[in-house]
Amino acid sequence: MATATVGSVTRQIAALEISGSKPSSSIARPVHTKSISQPNVAKLLTKFAAPNLNQSQSNLSNLPPPPPSRSNTQSSIDIGRYDGGLELDNEKRGDLVSGEAAVELALDSSLSRTYPTQEWSLHSFDMGRPLGKGKFGRVYMVRTKTAPKYILALKTLYKSELVANKVEKQTRREIEIQQNLRHPHVLRLYGFFHDEKRIFLMLEFAGKGELYRQLSKVGSFTEKRSARYIDQMADALVYLHGKHVIHRDIKPENLLLGINGELKIADFGWSVHAPGLRRMTLCGTLDYLPPEMVEGKEHNEKVDHWALGVLTYEFMIGAPPFEDRKSVNNTYRRIARVDLKFPATISAEAKDLISKLLQYDPKQRLPLSEVLCHPWIVKYRSKASGSI
Ligand code: AMP
Repeated sequence: MATATVGSVTRQIAALEISGSKPSSSIARPVHTKSISQPNVAKLLTKFAAPNLNQSQSNLSNLPPPPPSRSNTQSSIDIGRYDGGLELDNEKRGDLVSGEAAVELALDSSLSRTYPTQEWSLHSFDMGRPLGKGKFGRVYMVRTKTAPKYILALKTLYKSELVANKVEKQTRREIEIQQNLRHPHVLRLYGFFHDEKRIFLMLEFAGKGELYRQLSKVGSFTEKRSARYIDQMADALVYLHGKHVIHRDIKPENLLLGINGELKIADFGWSVHAPGLRRMTLCGTLDYLPPEMVEGKEHNEKVDHWALGVLTYEFMIGAPPFEDRKSVNNTYRRIARVDLKFPATISAEAKDLISKLLQYDPKQRLPLSEVLCHPWIVKYRSKASGSI
């Protein structure tokens, strides 16, 4: 792909007919020149990526401008080369949706009653490198064109694919819930917009990617690393449960890592805003389901306490505690019996925490406030909170 100056790239993107009309194949695909390699990208991103403010009423449109810097530092952060994937996809992927689904998926944060943002569109961003492909579309590193030029992850969802998978209501709920959450260990959703075929989510950029990938790479984490993640998870869950949000799908695949390695809960696809008790709808990954869900009983926020116990175990052992790769039924049975076995390598303190979370009776599961002051957690808590 030919290289281009930043100015010409911006013009090319601006020239793209993104919203509401079919892109013509003759339009040059936008490309990005890599700016001078930034040795200290991590530091810069920490400073200039959209902040994860733990306060209400904050959004990208009303954030204060960045501190005056020596140079145009933000625009010099390397966001990588855009591969033209959005236009490629849009030519061959997705159909127009109509009727109730079209109304359900006409999602635009500028119209939000709670936290309206400025009006966003694809024209608002410089496109950078691909970050990954999800089930419903691609995710890109992007930078807002206007000051203060925040770095974000832009995630695409094809509306017709959401409809085909019957997840349009779930997606809407996920977006509505995530939009209202502000916590350092919960991935921020800054805004969203849509065109005829797609929904775009403006997400906090998680610089170190998927936690699952890190776990797969090393097999299992040390007790120290596991304890620090669990500390951050418990902190985030206190916040979520305080807002009556039950996550219901905690597992390594739904966790991302920020630029300093801090944990970010990223997927609210199965979460519910449930001030009262709920009847069971079977959701989540089997390995992380608590006995009350396996047995089809009512459940409440204590399902997340159970999943936290499973997660602690998986971090340290490399596999969930009730896994049976040969038989799903056996996994169900093992969960219902709380058939928990520890390898000899696990410390007594870690076993104590896991056993107190993996209690059959939801009421007996350790409260999150006690997770946060459990000796195993306190022992490994870093003084510089957040970093691993
Ligand atoms: P998803 O559709 O959420 O599964 O995203 C697909 C892939 O894109 C993930 O597996 C990540 O590698 C990457 N990704 C998604 N969201 C972000 C983000 N906020 N920051 C960095 N990478 C992300």
